[in-house]
Amino acid sequence: MKYTRRKFVKTLGAGSALLMLSAIPTFSEPLFTGDKKLGVALVGLGNYATHELAPALQETSLCYLSGIVTGTPAKAERWRSQYNIPGSNIYNYENFDKIIDNESIDVVYVVLPNSMHHEFVIRAAKAGKHVFCEKPMALSVKECEEMIDACSKAGVKLFVGYRLHSDPYHKAAMKFRAEGDSGILYVQSEFGFKIGDPTQWRLKKALAGGGAMMDLGIYAIQAARYSIGKEPQSVTAQEYKTDPQKFAEVDETITWQMEFPGGHVSNSYTSYSTPANNLYISTERRWFNLMPAFNYGGIEGRTNEGELNFPRINQQAVQMDTFSNCIINNIESDASGKEGLKDLKVIEAIYKSIENGSKVKV
Ligand code: NDP
Repeated sequence: MKYTRRKFVKTLGAGSALLMLSAIPTFSEPLFTGDKKLGVALVGLGNYATHELAPALQETSLCYLSGIVTGTPAKAERWRSQYNIPGSNIYNYENFDKIIDNESIDVVYVVLPNSMHHEFVIRAAKAGKHVFCEKPMALSVKECEEMIDACSKAGVKLFVGYRLHSDPYHKAAMKFRAEGDSGILYVQSEFGFKIGDPTQWRLKKALAGGGAMMDLGIYAIQAARYSIGKEPQSVTAQEYKTDPQKFAEVDETITWQMEFPGGHVSNSYTSYSTPANNLYISTERRWFNLMPAFNYGGIEGRTNEGELNFPRINQQAVQMDTFSNCIINNIESDASGKEGLKDLKVIEAIYKSIENGSKVKV
């Protein structure tokens, strides 16, 4: 199999190849030209693995679903027959470390509750496997540093599941600042939805690490950081609760402001109660807006010059192919563990600002 820029564009959707080539930065060169697909084992067969990642792995060109790790035997059986996974490539959380001996698994994709990312990324690295880890990368800066260190010592690559880095609308957001006037940038980023089941792990601090901020606010932080293209120097944050019982352990709603070098500013919102889904970037003479901004598909965008009209892509498939290309060709990714660490630094500063009631340096 030869994976060329032409083939990549074709996977994004017919009829828009010319537009795509001119509008979207694709893979960093060089592109993969070999013939081996990487085997990926999904760890934790919950909603995201079941409804997004496994189907996406049927569309990828550089990697495929070769194994699973689950604590639920019934799921193991179901996945084995649905995806034709050999019994020797099925693990549970106890025997997971034996994956070291399995040559048909090159990558471990950790899709577990947030508090388990740290342990399973480190165990995967020790087994000599490259790692894709879901967001948030971990619960703290310290955990992120330990994960990066473990992967570096093991000589494996670590990526965070920032699917929007693969999306054409967000690639356009990343480029927007570079394309016109040099005025001060203002970014507004908001992501929230109403969360259901009050018993789920997302509302338990020990498993989730935090509430809306860890799960959704991280997208708003990401968007502000890559739209402005700099790291925030300080944050000021405020927390609100309308349902102290449901949100006894984790944050329900947070607003925060970030200050960046050069006087650039962002204003953001995240909530588990009120839906919000917006990215707005403004410079002296131009503006750029995505709404909805953070969905798997169906992002809509416009600028002061008119509608944005990029083809819809399978974000997860392009994300996993992009990461695989980085592994195969030994190239850096803009969604590496270092990127996950930067977001955790901001999140820790946000929580500290809420606690102190003051501005906090990142
Ligand atoms: P789910 O609750 O649907 O699935 C988590 C799975 O983890 C479970 O099904 C279970 O799988 C396993 N698990 C192991 N131990 C536990 C435990 N103590 N409690 C609950 N589950 C456990 O979560 P999601 O799939 O929605 O989220 C998983 C991760 O993916 C999170 O970090 C989340 O932030 C991230 N995510 C990212 C998205 C993105 O767009 N990038 C979108 C959605 C989620 P099993 O039965 O196989 O053991």
